[in-house]
Amino acid sequence: MGRVYNFAAGPAAMPLGALEAAAAELTDFRGAGVSVMEMPHRSGAYRAIFDETIGLIRELMGVPDHYRVLLAQGGATLQFAAVPLNLLGRGADYVDSGYFAHSALSEAMKYGAARSAASTRDQGYRRAPEGSEADVDPNADYVHVTTNNTIYGTRIPSLPPGRGVPIVADMSSNILSEAYDVRDFGVIYAGAQKNIGPAGLTVIIVREDLLGRARRETPKAMDWKAMDEAGSMLNTPPTFAVYMAGLCLKWLKARGGVEAIQRENLEKSRLLYDCLDRSERFVPYADAGSRSRMNVTFRTESDAGDERFAAEAERAGLVNLRGHRLTGGIRASLYNAMPLEGVRALVEFMEEYERRG
Ligand code: PMP
Repeated sequence: MGRVYNFAAGPAAMPLGALEAAAAELTDFRGAGVSVMEMPHRSGAYRAIFDETIGLIRELMGVPDHYRVLLAQGGATLQFAAVPLNLLGRGADYVDSGYFAHSALSEAMKYGAARSAASTRDQGYRRAPEGSEADVDPNADYVHVTTNNTIYGTRIPSLPPGRGVPIVADMSSNILSEAYDVRDFGVIYAGAQKNIGPAGLTVIIVREDLLGRARRETPKAMDWKAMDEAGSMLNTPPTFAVYMAGLCLKWLKARGGVEAIQRENLEKSRLLYDCLDRSERFVPYADAGSRSRMNVTFRTESDAGDERFAAEAERAGLVNLRGHRLTGGIRASLYNAMPLEGVRALVEFMEEYERRG
């Protein structure tokens, strides 16, 4: 079987060029006689790979000098605990815009006074709160947002007013897909397995003045200052995942970077939402004002109809369209590596499916 259009929510499609580059040097990395997987992480050859990946993140996201870029393991989920351990003193505010936002809040509540400053939970997370809806305490240590809600298919339309309170953002499912000004945030973190590279790697971007506030009991491997001082090598990093991320980031750079991919992503999502809005059979889940550009969620007339659609799409080479187990329905994830042709193929399939009845 050849390559198919993979609409998975994460781990997700990766650029074919990056996979091919890795395949070509899998057993012998550029004449070293060993695979990247076999290199000691502190060797000069590996350091160059590691530093290049960090440099690409800085360049593509325009990370200012007074922010540190850390690479870690444990996924975004570990950062749900690392954020309060590193920052929570008096209290923290959370924008509860979806399942992962809620999980981040629940985790923080274990460590101190974390509270919901805005929530759309009772609306089935069909929309994400506007920033201005968040009742941010000016004395809070931080306000936490989830910029894109992977399961429900929503995107926060705006950030809460800073009021001097650092914004901490879980950007797992839309990092590098649209331009953000890093200066608007105190901390950005993301699991890699959607828009950065393979699973196993987590990127954390921290403003320097927020380092050094961790509680005494913070595990060293979660303490951002200790991680920074060790150059993200307190222990063995996920060496191959970092290398693969570097290949994906080079691909993104060659495509014109974040602003160019943002235009493509807008076009891709518009194409699919236009199809949903024309349809009499497919019903979009997210409210129009909160639509995600990365995860497009919709339904047919029934659960059985959703299953039939996903199964038939799979036979047509359009795979991983089933929604999250919590919500059911259909979800098409359109991360950076999903080409426009893949979305066109999906839209054509949906139109044909609707005509067939
Ligand atoms: N936050 C968001 C927005 C996510 O989409 C996910 C995973 N899909 C997570 C957090 C959890 O990430 P991980 O599996 O890397 O811990």
